[in-house]
Amino acid sequence: MKRAEIIAVGSELLLGQIVNTNAQFIAKQLSTIGISHHFQTVVGDNSLRLRNTLEVASSRCDLIILTGGLGPTKDDLTKEVVAEFLGKSLIMHQKSLDSIEAYFKRVNREMTENNKKQALVIEDSIVFENHNGMAPGMCVSYNDKQFILLPGPPKEMIPMFEQLVLPYLLSGSDQTTIVSKELKFFGIGESILETKVLDLLENQSNPTIAPLASEGEVMLRLTASAKDKEEANQLIHETEMKINERVGQYIYSTNGDNLFTVLVKLLNEKNMTIAAAESLTGGLFSKRITDIPGVSSIFKGSIVCYQNEIKANILGVSNELLDTKGAVSFECAKALAENVQKLCNSSIGVSFTGEAGPEASEQVPVGKVFIGIKIGEQEAIVKELQLSGTREQIRLSSVKHATNLLVK
Ligand code: ATP
Ligand code: MG
Repeated sequence: MKRAEIIAVGSELLLGQIVNTNAQFIAKQLSTIGISHHFQTVVGDNSLRLRNTLEVASSRCDLIILTGGLGPTKDDLTKEVVAEFLGKSLIMHQKSLDSIEAYFKRVNREMTENNKKQALVIEDSIVFENHNGMAPGMCVSYNDKQFILLPGPPKEMIPMFEQLVLPYLLSGSDQTTIVSKELKFFGIGESILETKVLDLLENQSNPTIAPLASEGEVMLRLTASAKDKEEANQLIHETEMKINERVGQYIYSTNGDNLFTVLVKLLNEKNMTIAAAESLTGGLFSKRITDIPGVSSIFKGSIVCYQNEIKANILGVSNELLDTKGAVSFECAKALAENVQKLCNSSIGVSFTGEAGPEASEQVPVGKVFIGIKIGEQEAIVKELQLSGTREQIRLSSVKHATNLLVK
């Protein structure tokens, strides 16, 4: 099995001016095609140190992927150093030179001499044309080691990787079609999910299974390679069924949609509308739902009822209820959901009340949350949660819990 190392070249990475998103992207891509990736290195625009890095990388890996330093300026020295390291020379790649010249003609700018340098490639290399910039990428093999050089700007590197490098890495095998599917989960933590599918994770080969967690959610990305789409889909289907058997009840999306998109689509399908009364969340539910285009047909609006005065005067929660039960209560969440539904004349009313912290209030611990949901003529339900995390996490988690309840 091939062992890969990613080398990101650029002093701005070392200075912390930019984040090494190229390595992250390439790492994910390698995992999808079953290439094991052992090291990541960052090195500045310095020939000696880059050479040392190449020596180390080629002593421990067989696939070395470099990004950055293919541009026209003096500090761009990646291919010069790799060529010298391998004892190879640089030759002009006519097709790339033609397209660079054509570019300058098109934008009516004079082409300076140093731009020609971008069309130089290492002899005997396979050239990856750059459809989104000037410097081509390339792959050169030497003593059973492969060196792949890619441009630094992500908008050039990513399409080059997806369109040219991935098929190249897969060529030689008869598996040239890649299909990915994202299973998105809510209501199950990353570690519990991992435990439940541990054997599948440990024995994965094709499809690969990559767990990813962000914003309180977990996703499993299944990627299969096969000779055609049908076969790849079948491989994914088999693994998906196994995952479904164990943790299917937590899956809310398999097509890339996020929770809010799922809700918007569902309400559109059912011809239903929704309105929100947001105390705890201060408008976050409205923000997240209106991030989805085409939401105006289902989202009536929301009332940010932060102070009790607004809960009482605008949303009609009785002062007696607020005095006896408090704003962070089952009863208040219920009344808010019922009343916002009525006030906004919507099919659904949803409400949020709770304590996001960081300081607990007198009666309420941090993370105590009540979500009210009133659908049509049905009795309102209230979900009580005890969440943990920062203020921001508690508020976002509340919004997601409510959305998840609504899509169920
Ligand atoms: P150019 O022709 O733009 O000079 P290049 O291939 O020489 O491209 P660099 O000069 O190393 O690449 O980087 C150009 C820009 O690409 C950087 O300023 C940065 O915005 C982005 N970039 C480079 N390396 C990375 C990386 N590892 N992760 C994310 N962005 C990067
Ligand atoms: Mg550059």
